[in-house]
Amino acid sequence: MCHPASPEAQSDVFLTRAWYNSLVARVLMVSSEAAPFAKTGGLADVVGSLPSALRSLGDEVAVVIPRYASIDLKTAHRVWDNLPVHFGPVSFPVSIYQAPAPYPVYLVDCPPLYDRKGFYGESGMDYPDNHIRFAVFCRAALGIARVLFRPDIFHCHDWQTGLVPAYLRTAFATDPTFFGCRTLFTIHNLGYQGLFPKAALAEVALDPSVYRPDGMEFFGRVSYIKAGIEFADAVNTVSPTYAREIQTPEYGFGLDARLRGRASVLTGILNGVDYADWNPQTDPLIPAPYSPQDLTGKATCKRRLLEEFGFPAAALDRPLLGIVSRFTRQKGFDILAEVAARIVAEDVYLVALGTGDPEFEDFFHLMQQEHPGRIAARIGFDSPLAHRIEAGADIFLMPSHYEPCGLNQMYSLRYGTVPVARATGGLDDTIDVGTGFKFAGYSGEALLDAVKAAVRAFADRENWQRMMRRGMSMDFSWKAPAAAYAELYRRILAR
Ligand code: ADP
Repeated sequence: MCHPASPEAQSDVFLTRAWYNSLVARVLMVSSEAAPFAKTGGLADVVGSLPSALRSLGDEVAVVIPRYASIDLKTAHRVWDNLPVHFGPVSFPVSIYQAPAPYPVYLVDCPPLYDRKGFYGESGMDYPDNHIRFAVFCRAALGIARVLFRPDIFHCHDWQTGLVPAYLRTAFATDPTFFGCRTLFTIHNLGYQGLFPKAALAEVALDPSVYRPDGMEFFGRVSYIKAGIEFADAVNTVSPTYAREIQTPEYGFGLDARLRGRASVLTGILNGVDYADWNPQTDPLIPAPYSPQDLTGKATCKRRLLEEFGFPAAALDRPLLGIVSRFTRQKGFDILAEVAARIVAEDVYLVALGTGDPEFEDFFHLMQQEHPGRIAARIGFDSPLAHRIEAGADIFLMPSHYEPCGLNQMYSLRYGTVPVARATGGLDDTIDVGTGFKFAGYSGEALLDAVKAAVRAFADRENWQRMMRRGMSMDFSWKAPAAAYAELYRRILAR
C-alpha cells in the first residue's frame, strides 16, 4: 500500500475510504503470545487465529513474538543475525528466527532476556527487568518492519507492546521508514498494565517528554499500557461491553478518564473462535465426537471424564460442572470460595483445571480434600484436558469479576456445555437466556442462585438438550470479527 508522506496529503481526494478498501493491508501483529508457539491465555488464541482469518479476506499478515525458552528453534530458520537494539551505551544481542507457519511468524531471540522458565515471571513474581525485555521486543518489532516485513499497520496487543506506538511517536517520528504507518492497540485485559518506576524511561531510551498525564505517566510511575492507549492511532478492546465498561471507574483500573478521552477512537470487537481447534465433531482430543443432531458422544465424554477423575457412577445422572481458567481474583474464585460447599450440596460434581494464585490453588486442593469424589482439581496448564472438560461437563462456570471477552464460554457453547457466568464484558455479549445462565451482582449468593437455576433446568432433559443445541449452533467464528478488524485497519489508514 502506498502512503501519503504528510498529514496534508491525507485530505487528498484520492485517499478516500473506498480507495483504501480496495487495497491489501499489510499488518504486523506484535504480541507477547501466539498459539501454538507461546500461550498462557486467550491472547495467544487470538493472535494464533486472527491472522489466518484476515488472510482469507485478502490482507497480508505477519506476527512477531519473543522467542521464549519453551519455543524450540529446531524447525525455525534464522533470518536476521545481530539486529541492532541499543539503549544508550547498552546493546542487546538480538537475532530473528522465522517459525514454520502459513504466514511469517518472527521470533525475537535474545537469550539473556527471554531464555527463561516463564514468559513474564516465575513463582508468582514478575521478572524485575520486564520493562527492558518488552522494550527490546518492541524495538526488534520495529527492526523487522524496517527490513523483513514492511507493514501499513502495527497491530499491537496489550501492555508488552505499548512502546511500539510510543517509539513511533518519539524516537522514530521523523524516520521516513515509518511515514504513513499506523498503529492499532488492542486491550485484552486492562488489569495488566506494565507499571514501572519513572527511571525505566531512561533505561529504555524513551524521550522524557512521554512522562506526562496524557502520555505514559500514571500516578508517579510509567505505564506501558498507557503508552498504547495514548499514542496509538486507534484503540480497541475485545468485546463491545468491555469497551464500555473500561470507561467507567468500576472497571477502568484508574485509566477510565483517559479512555473516555480516547472514546472517539475506541471500539469493541468480539474475539472469534477457531472452530478448526474447537469443534466437538472433529476434535481429536476428546473421547467421542458429537454434534447437535447426535449427542450420544457427549454422554461418552462425560462418562470418561468422570472415570478419569474417579467420580462414582451415580454422578452420571447429576450435573457435572467444569472450570478451566487462570486462577486469579479476576475470574471470580473469591465468590466461588464463599459458596462452593453450598454448590456441592445441590448434588452436583465439579472438575476444575487451572493454575495461578497460590491462594486459589490451595482453595481447590482443600475443596478436593473436603469433598472427595465430588470435587476434583488439576493444578497446571493442560490443553488436551481443557478439551476433555469442555466436552465432558454439563455446565461451565465463569463467575468472573470482569471478563474482557472470554473464550471458554464460546467453546462451551459449541460443546453443548451450558455456561453459568457473570453478566460482564464478553460473557454478557455472547450468552443469552436461551443459551446459558447469567447473574449480575458480584456475590457468592448471586452465583449460587444462577447455579441453582441451572441445576433445576438440567432436570428437564428435553428442555436442557434444546438449550445445548441452541448454544451449539451459534456462530462465533472469526469471520465477522476479522471483517471488523479489516474495516478498522482501513478506517485508520484513511484518517
Ligand atoms: P484469559 O485469556 O483471561 O485467561 P480466556 O477465556 O479468554 O481467558 O482464554 C483462556 C484460554 O486459555 C482458553 O483457550 C483456555 O482453554 C485456556 N486455558 C486457561 N487455563 C488453562 C489451563 N490451566 N490449561 C489449559 N488451557 C487453559
